[in-house]
Amino acid sequence: MTHVSIQELTKVYPGADAPALDRLSLEIASGELTALLGPSGCGKTTTMKMIAGLLEPTSGDVRFDDRSILRDKPEHRGVVMVFQNYLLFPYMSVADNVGFGLKMRKTDSAEIKRRVGEMLDLVKLPDLGDRRPSALSGGQQQRIALARALIVQPEVLLLDEPLSNLDAHLRFEMRDLIRSLQQEMGITTIFVTHDQEEAVVLADRVALILDGQMKQYDRADVFYKRPVDEATARFFGGHNFIPGKSAGGIFDGPLGRLSLADGAVEGAGKLTFRPENVRVGQGDGNNLSAKVADVIYLGTQTRLKLRVGETEIDAVVNPNEVEGFKPGDTVPIHLPPQTLWVIS
Ligand code: ATP
Repeated sequence: MTHVSIQELTKVYPGADAPALDRLSLEIASGELTALLGPSGCGKTTTMKMIAGLLEPTSGDVRFDDRSILRDKPEHRGVVMVFQNYLLFPYMSVADNVGFGLKMRKTDSAEIKRRVGEMLDLVKLPDLGDRRPSALSGGQQQRIALARALIVQPEVLLLDEPLSNLDAHLRFEMRDLIRSLQQEMGITTIFVTHDQEEAVVLADRVALILDGQMKQYDRADVFYKRPVDEATARFFGGHNFIPGKSAGGIFDGPLGRLSLADGAVEGAGKLTFRPENVRVGQGDGNNLSAKVADVIYLGTQTRLKLRVGETEIDAVVNPNEVEGFKPGDTVPIHLPPQTLWVIS
């Protein structure tokens, strides 16, 4: 099991005005899965390539168990990278693809055969060893790519958008498979995705990267409850941002004086709360009267656009709670103090 330490890792491509990755620092505990999350072009693949040894950093360090690996050749780093487009060898059988890494290490052929069999069982494709990759579905090819990576028991597994070419159903299946294999084998893993839900479901911790800069590195639930800034909150589906001032556990702004939970940031800032934390009806503290501007039925949830004075509030509620609500109605709502958060 390997602890990965990424220290101020930076890449400036030749001729670029700004770094593609700017001083990224992460500590990934042995056996943990960290997701690098961010929109297209934020620097995720650049990070992975530097860890894998396919790209030289401009500055910074990557350490495995406190040893810098930057001078090691890619094949000596103990890292395996699985790409979005699988990159299986088309002219080899599935079994030869899976066993490739062991063959390169000059492992005995009987041992290769045994371990290939084991890996094919693990990825639940025991009978496909003799086929060519072109005779497999996309999901099957992706599982073979995973088997080929895992068979060499890497210290660190890098998965670069491994699910993005799969349809929704297969994506769920692969997600579960990756999580269970990763936990079973205890391999420290970095998983790249632009999909917030995928990161939340799969990762022990998530690193959100926007424009080459890491915004926040935390357990997934913290991004919902305690986002560091508005851009981070928005990336995780946050909607309500209300300017004002926080002092002594009270937020003073256009919604009036609202009670905050302990530990809220003091000073000028923005109050934020998630749409799903707006409660319809009277409650303990922070009761407001809101005008319904719109009611959007989403099936399992209903989105309410509300107005308190001049301030718009987005709420997502259980459809049963708002049956009969229509634009123009005035309704009581409350904002539980522990669900409010102030960002500076
Ligand atoms: P995607 O999700 O689309 O794969 P990404 O987050 O992985 O995006 P990167 O591929 O790391 O992003 O790219 C980060 C930035 O660096 C982008 O602005 C990209 O245009 C730039 N970039 C990537 N590769 C090179 C290169 N070889 N030369 C110059 N600029 C590059």
